[in-house]
Amino acid sequence: VHPTAARADVPIVVESERTKYTEEFITSTFDYHGQTVTNEGGVYKVRPTKKTFEFRTERKVPRTGLMMVGLGGNNGTTLTATILANRHNITWRTKSGIQTPNYIGSVLRASTLRLGVDPINGSDVHVPLSSVLPTVHPNDLVIGGWDISSAPLDKAMARAEVLPWDLQRQLAPLMAPIHPLPSIYYPDFIAANQEERADNLIPGEDKQAHLEKLRADIRQFKEANGLDKVIVFWTANTERFSEVLEGINDTAENLLEAIKCSHEEVSPSTLFAVASILEGCPFINGAPQNTFVPGCIKLAEQHKSFIGGDDLKSGQTKVKSVLTEFLVNAGIKPLSIASYNHLGNNDGRNLSAEKQFRSKEISKSSVVDDMVAANHLLFRPKAEGEAKGEHPNHLVVIKYMPAVGDSKRAIDEYYSEICMGGRSVINIFNECEDSLLASPLILDLSILAELLTRIEYREVGKEQTEFAPLYTVLSLLSYMLKAPLVKPGTDVVNALGRQRNALELFMKACLGLEGQGDLLLESRVW
Ligand code: NAD
Repeated sequence: VHPTAARADVPIVVESERTKYTEEFITSTFDYHGQTVTNEGGVYKVRPTKKTFEFRTERKVPRTGLMMVGLGGNNGTTLTATILANRHNITWRTKSGIQTPNYIGSVLRASTLRLGVDPINGSDVHVPLSSVLPTVHPNDLVIGGWDISSAPLDKAMARAEVLPWDLQRQLAPLMAPIHPLPSIYYPDFIAANQEERADNLIPGEDKQAHLEKLRADIRQFKEANGLDKVIVFWTANTERFSEVLEGINDTAENLLEAIKCSHEEVSPSTLFAVASILEGCPFINGAPQNTFVPGCIKLAEQHKSFIGGDDLKSGQTKVKSVLTEFLVNAGIKPLSIASYNHLGNNDGRNLSAEKQFRSKEISKSSVVDDMVAANHLLFRPKAEGEAKGEHPNHLVVIKYMPAVGDSKRAIDEYYSEICMGGRSVINIFNECEDSLLASPLILDLSILAELLTRIEYREVGKEQTEFAPLYTVLSLLSYMLKAPLVKPGTDVVNALGRQRNALELFMKACLGLEGQGDLLLESRVW
């Protein structure tokens, strides 16, 4: 068994007054240090702040189901196949030998966190991220979901042309019994070229009836599989943006009313989100469209249900959120970033339509905003009345090229200003198997979202005495998302390093550990 799929790692027990273990919970006390900064008469006055929180993590890992919308697509079939291959330890022959299944590319399963130092030899001790707190093992996820295409998963896997034949051959008997549930199809939302695969539809045009059917599907899946929890994940085609209309999808009540009247601007993905929210299941949007219209976020808030999105950050954008952070933090000024993609899978086919491309373009375009805005030495801050301050030119092009299939090509040019008017150009050519990058992200998002439903907090010294769930929008999922949804009114963080840091610090806080890891004072003092 590959280490990333291994069942057990060395258990972690924190011995501290601030960390308590009962059979049911890990409870930690954590001091949250910050600073407020105010400009007083031309002087920045900095005042340290401290809030003390208690975090409580339920230890029992629930039996969890993952229902994917778009189960029969490239991501849906590749993830299902990956889980089955790992669960049954299926190996396959390649031209260079025997390949074993694994979860490489999963931040939780295949990356580590520096837990501390071994006092005897002074060396760092690293543990898998997945073992810091009790998390669902991907092999245990019960897979189900919907697709507008009726192909059973063995056929759908073959159609995707992602996995090698010798693996497909062995997986086919395990995949064949999985049939996607019929789904809702409002042709206007995805590209017209998808119509030919839409043969598995919930009949009628009554959106209220559709909502009730989706809710019943979730309940039945839960019951039939004896599940404690279900995560619903949109990995279906990219939809066009919905128009945000006053009186229609601006408030929770209006959105529910709009569904009752089958209003044309309620998209399939929003309907899935609403069904999940009403069933108390976390819903994650792995595609770029604005599923979470304001009314949908408000509905989730009302029901204290969890949502996360938007759009998987798998390749080009991930690199961009690293490289731009590096350039700007190095004091180098990117003047333009030009990104070209071509891909030949069904996602690329759908994105070849103008409105669906536009959703992707929007999701890819704001990824450098926070890094640029953080450096007023290089970029002039926004003036009054401006939406943005000075900003590098940023271009995103996506073209459909059937021949390259799932192996997407991304070409990026970073053109920057360096010292004394000089110029620097960095070109990146990235070729990657799209669905094999995306599938582990779907796992991470689902497993993390499930974990976050088991973590509650209270602020010490505040009136709130009961433990309460985290805020509805799970912004801690940002590391895997291209256009992270955050609490309205708070800043989006796109920089990959900061997103990862937040995740590590939060997990450590739940164990009562401070996150001073990189200070390394031991190596700097006598
Ligand atoms: P895909 O086209 O292979 O699969 C999408 C599936 O969704 C298809 O099987 C289609 O029949 C189904 N579908 C469409 N509308 C539906 C509906 N209303 N209900 C149920 N099923 C529906 O695409 P993919 O490569 O699997 O990508 C899935 C999504 O993830 C796309 O929106 C894509 O933009 C997004 N995404 C993918 C990556 C990646 O690296 N693969 C990265 C970021 C985002």
